[in-house]
Amino acid sequence: MKKHNFYAGPSILSEFTIKNTAAAVENFADMGLSILEVSHRSKEFVAVMDEARALIKELLDLPAGYEVVFLGGGASMQFCMVPYNLLSKKAAYLDTGTWASKAIKEAKLFGEVDVVASSKDKNYTYIPKGYTVPEDVDYFHITTNNTIYGTEIREDLDVKARLVADMSSDIFSRPIDASKYDLIYAGAQKNLAPAGVTLVIVRTDALGHVDRPIPTMLNYKTHIEKDSMFNTPPVLPIYSALQTLKWYKAQGGIAAMEKKDKENAAILYDEIDRNKLFRGTVVPEDRSIMNVCFVMNDEYKELEGEFNTFAASKGIVGIKGHRSVGGFRASLYNAMPKSSVEVLIDAMKEFEKQH
Ligand code: PLP
Repeated sequence: MKKHNFYAGPSILSEFTIKNTAAAVENFADMGLSILEVSHRSKEFVAVMDEARALIKELLDLPAGYEVVFLGGGASMQFCMVPYNLLSKKAAYLDTGTWASKAIKEAKLFGEVDVVASSKDKNYTYIPKGYTVPEDVDYFHITTNNTIYGTEIREDLDVKARLVADMSSDIFSRPIDASKYDLIYAGAQKNLAPAGVTLVIVRTDALGHVDRPIPTMLNYKTHIEKDSMFNTPPVLPIYSALQTLKWYKAQGGIAAMEKKDKENAAILYDEIDRNKLFRGTVVPEDRSIMNVCFVMNDEYKELEGEFNTFAASKGIVGIKGHRSVGGFRASLYNAMPKSSVEVLIDAMKEFEKQH
């Protein structure tokens, strides 16, 4: 039975991505070699790298002056690379959850950190509003989608400071006004590719303003100047990323993804709100369309394990909530078919009838 994959990451990828990646593992670009065994400097792979970067620029409509690089180290590496390259004296951070807190911890190694607001008081169930970003900061860092808590900032904020965004779990889920950001980073393993590569989009004039020496591998300029080929890049994930990007384009681009993602999220949230057994954990206005977090209502708490088993019997995998929230988390990334969301909704309805 084909499973319905709700994992938070690594997570579902399009069938197109999986099929083409599998084919390239057998025979890449008709070279008679596997993608696993070709040089990253072969003209065939350089073409993959170039096309992937060009497609990201096209799909996100990046203005001139932005560079796209593929790096190793995961999104977590960006928690230190961002302040290494951009923080001279002081940076502002919005604390919206575990990943934001980790980014804050690293930034403190490089300078003063002003946490302008936090939603920790309510276990990160909302996005703080009404805060002020000081004008004298080197940048303001946000996490647009909080994968663990299921909150999301679905707008491009207007701030005077340079804006840096961790978009690991919602990049490509809505068209963005890229000109509002100086740096965007995203681990690949949600809406792009298998784990192992991190996408960084950077406005080049944001770089070069710190005095400290930056280790070569941690300096964005190194990777920009060498077209992400300073050292051996993660070849296979980049090949898969290209397949996903081609699929996005063929589906109608990022606006089409957003439409589908919103529909998927809307029908699931509607069911959570309607079903007597469940309730959402996030305030409605900040609900993520990527990670839908919900728990059993108090009077049905003891049914949690039973619902997990019931869902598994329907081929539903990956809905166990993160330990810091409990309950359930259904991740609805771009490759999620509506039919899988409907299977989950039907399971919730059927389980409700039984209790
Ligand atoms: N930021 C966000 C929003 C994430 O969801 C994750 C991982 O799930 C990370 C950062 C860390 O990414 P990585 O495991 O690639 O370091």
